[in-house]
Amino acid sequence: MATTEILEQLIKDPDKLKNLVDEVKDLAFLYGIVFRTHETPNSSEVVTYAPFTLFPSPFPKAAFLQALALQTHFNTLVNKISQDPDFLEEALAGTVQADDFTAKLFDIYRKVQQEGRTQSIVVGLNRSDYMVDQREDGTVSLKQIEINTISAGGFGVSDRLSVVHRHVLKSVGLLEESRSVPDNNRTPGMCAALQRSTHLILFLVEDIELSKLSHRYIEKELWKRNIPVIRRKFDEVSRNGSLNADKRLFIDGLEVAVVYYRYGYMPDNYTAQSWDARLLMERSRAVKCPDISTHLAGTKKVQQVLARPGVLEKFFPDQLQVVEQIRATFAGLYTLDLGPEGDKTLTMALTAPERFVLKPQREGGGNNIYGSEICQVLQGVKDSTARMAYILMDKINPTPVQNYLLSRGTPLKITNCLSELGVFGAYVRQGKEMVMNECVGHLLKTKSSEHSDGGIQAGVSFLDNPLLV
Ligand code: ADP
Ligand code: MG
Ligand code: MG
Repeated sequence: MATTEILEQLIKDPDKLKNLVDEVKDLAFLYGIVFRTHETPNSSEVVTYAPFTLFPSPFPKAAFLQALALQTHFNTLVNKISQDPDFLEEALAGTVQADDFTAKLFDIYRKVQQEGRTQSIVVGLNRSDYMVDQREDGTVSLKQIEINTISAGGFGVSDRLSVVHRHVLKSVGLLEESRSVPDNNRTPGMCAALQRSTHLILFLVEDIELSKLSHRYIEKELWKRNIPVIRRKFDEVSRNGSLNADKRLFIDGLEVAVVYYRYGYMPDNYTAQSWDARLLMERSRAVKCPDISTHLAGTKKVQQVLARPGVLEKFFPDQLQVVEQIRATFAGLYTLDLGPEGDKTLTMALTAPERFVLKPQREGGGNNIYGSEICQVLQGVKDSTARMAYILMDKINPTPVQNYLLSRGTPLKITNCLSELGVFGAYVRQGKEMVMNECVGHLLKTKSSEHSDGGIQAGVSFLDNPLLV
């Protein structure tokens, strides 16, 4: 392919490479693709370009279109799961025994259920992630890695990276190829879901605000629509938030119409007070993005249960085609619950750990377990309920592609890379009805093949674009 030839030329011509890289970094600033630095995450005095790949990465067009076409079905699926207490209760029964974090979330869920819901609207902004599995017979297939139902990021400042990547291709003479980088303006679609009225939206944010500029991008889009936004941390909500007799949520005297969680997906995001603040918000009449049940619908355990025979059929009765389309993207997913099925999973994993990924109920990258470490971890938990905190998944093997990964302080070198495609879904449920259900764009994240896990904030993954082939 043409980009491979260009890469070979650039490897041999360091001056040309340096000029191109300098130019593309400048362009990143011109298009606002900026990040705060790890050294000063709470200040915008000194910022840098967001980590991104020099070239867009080749991605099979058929798999790309397949992933986009699936998104509204995944929105529907998440939405249905979130309204099915029996399913959530059963799916997570073992997990809540073994995993304290899921147990705490589930506790809030139960309390809200018992008290009765006060708000009939839910806003869902999620991202379904995939890798393309290269099979031994030479064919490729799109496989889902996971679905993120809380704080799904990766849009905002990078919305115009597609323009930068097209420019890069043009500047190395690949005009025709530049047409194969699709547009990717995701923020308006995400904001259309958040925009329930012209009332106040609360962004629940982190203490270390590395991704603040992407938040600002979203805030800007909302303000443009005359929707006021405030940003608050958990401790501010616990100090200054309250419910009135009607369970309306007030903070600093302002009524909050929508709570948009950009934080609260990891155990270390919470202190005892933040758990109280989360409960306060969940009990409130404010619209949540996501509500606690939608958060739970995004757990790895739920993903594994969905892959069991007959489960998807239950959520899509009379829609066998949808069931088949969704199931085609499922990799092998295996329970570690106590019992004969879980025992079988254990034996399988211990016999060939290199074929699998062991996943705890965690988000944000860097938590999965690979290779021989799978045996170590499983040996430690195999005879106790602790093993139910995990699920096992087939390892997906994409074909590595060469590229340059650009980030501040990283030496420039040609790197074997693996890509992961995310597809953004936005929906709004009002009562029982979906009043909005859309696919609003995509995200390609690329990392060195030396890394098993991912994550842009973790400094492992780089923003990218698909070059459809
Ligand atoms: P998180 O919620 O922490 O992002 P993921 O399930 O997305 O958890 O896993 C993190 C990263 O690990 C992914 O971005 C991907 O790079 C890698 N990964 C996860 N599952 C698999 C898999 N089944 N095969 C290959 N790599 C995987
Ligand atoms: Mg995740
Ligand atoms: Mg992930």
